Order: sequence, then structure tokens, then C-alpha cells
Amino acid sequence: MNKAFKFRIYPTKEQEELLSKTFGCVRFVYNKMLSDRISHYNETGESLNNTPAQYKKEFEWLKEVDSLALANAQLNLNKAYKNFFRDKSIGFPKFKSRKNNHRSYTTNCVNGNIKLDDGYLTLPKLKAVKIKQHRMVPDDYKLKSVTISKTPTGKYFASILYEYEKHIELAKPEKFVGMDYSMKELFITSDGISAEYPRYYRLSLEKLKKEQRKLSKCEKGSNNRNKQRLKVAKFHEKVANQRKDFLHKTSKQITNAFDGVCIEDLSMKGMSQALNFGKSVSDNSFGTFVSMLDYKLKEQGKQLVKIDKWFPSSKMCSACGQIKDALSLSDRTYHCEHCGLSLDRDYNASINIRNEGMRILSA
Ligand SMILES: [Zn+2]
Repeated sequence: MNKAFKFRIYPTKEQEELLSKTFGCVRFVYNKMLSDRISHYNETGESLNNTPAQYKKEFEWLKEVDSLALANAQLNLNKAYKNFFRDKSIGFPKFKSRKNNHRSYTTNCVNGNIKLDDGYLTLPKLKAVKIKQHRMVPDDYKLKSVTISKTPTGKYFASILYEYEKHIELAKPEKFVGMDYSMKELFITSDGISAEYPRYYRLSLEKLKKEQRKLSKCEKGSNNRNKQRLKVAKFHEKVANQRKDFLHKTSKQITNAFDGVCIEDLSMKGMSQALNFGKSVSDNSFGTFVSMLDYKLKEQGKQLVKIDKWFPSSKMCSACGQIKDALSLSDRTYHCEHCGLSLDRDYNASINIRNEGMRILSA
């Protein structure tokens, strides 16, 4: 199994320079490879298999940074292509913008080149970087890779991925729950419980929106605008942390309460398009929630059952099985003309999802 630990790091001025160079080189290589692939395809109709190594002659400064970080840029580009060919709605790989002020790169552990001990994280090219390790990592965990990131507010973090072996006894699947994402909340379960975002989170979101409006009114290039931008970035960070805490807490509660969790297998992109959710889903809370749930369940030998996205969870009556021809998004209540059932639409769907999940598992 894999587990990531995220710690704050405190690079020196020189290390910050090298980090900034590495972020830049990774972005450069990614964009260069992408543009060469596009023009090669336009000229020949064939795909190009280019690698970061072949650019080091022409762009010597690429040699100054961690070559594994560049190799990961290639892997990411390949992945973006693969995703596009698998599902066209994801869109063609995009160029990485310099304006995106969340920077990161990933490097791998090869022959012990990365070490974490005594308050320092040793990384390729960077050497020892000061780290605040607030949690211990068990001795038998094997370090796999590290993702270094810099937030818009100027903080640096290292997310360290470990692999470990664990003998997990499969839990007897007795208690099942179905889950449907709902418009207002994160989800509603087949027990009729909905996970509402806490009030403090909603208040922070409102405050963030207010600060963003202020920012949009600031004159471009002005001192005030820079100040306001930092304020917005700090708020963003706060909101993101509050959301993450809530998702962790909620996924833990669900994991402890049930042996099997059934959800619909929808790509987030398809979901926000299909349901025209707009912003509330594009922040991808539900996707993050599902991945947290997935690993928490696995750790306890429990199961996440994904239901086919074509399963008519919303259109089916959870009492008699009758399927409606059409159900408009504005119909918030499911009313069955066959048996007379009248139920909240998302609640009805989550019951269907649970039943289908139990059927799949028993089959
Ligand atoms: Zn019915």
C-alpha cells in the first residue's frame, strides 16, 4: 500500500533559487515536448516519442536541475495524452502557464538518493533541506517519491510517498451504504444522512468571494492589487485546508460506520457537464472525498464498490424498481406513478446505488 506524508520545508535562499529553476525547467520541458509533438503530428501525421534527455544539448541549463523531475514531466505529458485518448471530454493536453502560481515537481527515490532524517530532507541537487516533521514515519516504510510544491503565499511543502506492506484481513461485508452527491451538500446516503459543509467553511467561502471581488476592482500593477492578491491567496489556502479537514473527518466517519460503500463511477468532468453543477463540483471535492474514502476503506479491509455510470440510479424507483423515461434536474422529489413512492431525489438514488452495489458484490 501507499501512503503520503506532507511536511513543510524551509529552503535556504540558494535552495529557493534552485527550486524556482527546477519548477521553470519542468514547465519548459513539458511545454517544449508538447509543442514539438503537435508540430510533428501536423507535419507527418505521426506521433513523436521525444524525451527530456534530447533537449539537454540545445538547452544546456536543463542539466542544472534534477533530471528525475524532468523525467516525471514526460510521464505527466504521456498521462495527459492517454487520458485524452481514453476520454475525449477531458480535452487535449494543455500548455502549462507561467501565470499559474502553484508550482510543483516530483522526483523519485533511486538508490537512496532521497533521505529523511534529523530534521532534514535530502533531495537530488538540492542536498539537505530543513523540514518540519510533525509525524513519525514507521521504519519499515519505503520511500518512493517526493513532490515539492510552493503555494501562492510562498510556503514550501514536501509530500513524501511511501510504500509499505500490510497484512489486511478482509472485513466481513455486512453493513452497506449507498452514496449520491447532492446539489447542496457533499452527498446524501441511503440512510438519509447528508454531509453538510460546516458553517465556518461556508462563511470562509463567502469571505473569499468578497475579497476576490475587491481584487478585481484593484488597479492593475498597483501596490494595492499586489497586497490584495496575497490576501486572496491566503484565504484560498485557509478555505482549502478547512475543506480538506472536513473531507478527512467525513470519510473517516463513513469508513468506521460501514463495511461497504457504494458510489457511482462518474468522471468529475462528465459529472459537472452532465449535471451543470458549475463551480461546486469543479472544485472536485467529491473526487477528493472518494479517493480519501477509497484508501481509508482499503486500510481496514473494507470495500468501495463503484457502480457503472449508465446505471439509472436517479430514474429508478427504489421501492418497486420502475424506471422513469425522463427525470428533469429540477425535479427535486422522486415521485413514482407506479407505486406512489415520494422521496427526495438524491436519497432515492443513493438507495438504488446501495442495492446495486450489494448485488454486484454478491454476484
Ligand atoms: Zn415505485
